[in-house]
Amino acid sequence: MAYNQKMFALGSKRSIIREIFEYSKTRAAEIGAENVYDFSLGNPSVPAPREVGETIRELLDTESSVLLHGYTSAQGDLGVRTKIADSIKARFGIQTITPNHIYMTCGAAASLSICLKAVIEEGADDECIVFAPFFTEYRVFIENAGGKIVVSQPMEKTFAVDISDFEAKINEHTKAVIVNSPNNPSGVVYTEETIKALCEVLRRKSAEYGHVIYLIADEPYRELVYSDVSVPYLMNYYENTLVCYSYSKSLSLPGERIGYIAVSPEMQDGTNIYLAVCGAGRSLGYVCAPSMFQQVIARCIDAKVDIEIYRENRDLLYNNLTSYGYECVKPDGAFYLFVKALEDDATAFYERAKAHELLVVPCDDFGVKGYVRIAYCVDKQRVLNALPAFEALAKEYK
Ligand code: PLP
Repeated sequence: MAYNQKMFALGSKRSIIREIFEYSKTRAAEIGAENVYDFSLGNPSVPAPREVGETIRELLDTESSVLLHGYTSAQGDLGVRTKIADSIKARFGIQTITPNHIYMTCGAAASLSICLKAVIEEGADDECIVFAPFFTEYRVFIENAGGKIVVSQPMEKTFAVDISDFEAKINEHTKAVIVNSPNNPSGVVYTEETIKALCEVLRRKSAEYGHVIYLIADEPYRELVYSDVSVPYLMNYYENTLVCYSYSKSLSLPGERIGYIAVSPEMQDGTNIYLAVCGAGRSLGYVCAPSMFQQVIARCIDAKVDIEIYRENRDLLYNNLTSYGYECVKPDGAFYLFVKALEDDATAFYERAKAHELLVVPCDDFGVKGYVRIAYCVDKQRVLNALPAFEALAKEYK
């Protein structure tokens, strides 16, 4: 073959979420967008904070074209990285973090790809553990970095981490572990107790096998939390942590492709790991994240979106769906409801939901069979319109 077959396979077989999203657009053209209850994509419905728009206008009026549209340093503008390091220091108490621990990226997807490339050695049989249910793109990113994905199964019903299953999955090839909390697709926030137990296992196993096991914290949903729970900052629990942060969800800016990697200042061999991050960014072409949005972030570092809108949708869906007989954990964060399909085959259930114009995502590829994901980052009206359809669907199974 004259081209890369693995890449062809990735490009020609779109993710199920993208498939459904494309179907939704076609269906909306046929019957009207208001009649299609699309809950497929994690595209934030809450507008970006006003100050983001104001900052963009102000920057365009006052700053030079070179600052806004020119290249920055490969790892990002120093002033921007300084602001981010200061913010991490103030918010999470990481006193020794500096701009030299921060690498600006095009969102969490780029951050993850870079971190995995930086720590996984191709040809060395390196493995990366993920916790089911997990964001499906992890498989793509891990395999692209030359690693093997290993899935740790969760506790039944709660979808918390099953520490004994996790420990059983670690072996001498384990190089990294990805933790995503609040979780896509379950909405679960891992407790401090879980994080402490997980880090204790990591420390013990790193010592046993005589090499570092890296903890990669995938945190695009950190700010989207609706209950009185805290989201532990993993650097405070484990020294060999790389944080992948993104403003896609926290500031509703997914199309702007902006985020960062933070390497723990306590990281073993930290200077070299940061250089490996820079090298991985270079090799993947992820250098110099969008300049204007670096500046926007620096000026809107404390801005927040109104998450009450998501909380209302969560409560509406959770309360009504459970009253119709659906089973799901009440999510503490992110903007997804992970619902048990009303038959064993999640894809068959998805097809029957589709007949009611309900577009939900069957989650077999997320590592847990028999569930669908409802992304509730949509207008409240869509949720209200969809409730009778969810009820009618449930009745079909009675
Ligand atoms: N990680 C998780 C868990 C996600 O849900 C997403 C996007 O939905 C990403 C990473 C990628 O986000 P970004 O838009 O920042 O690349």
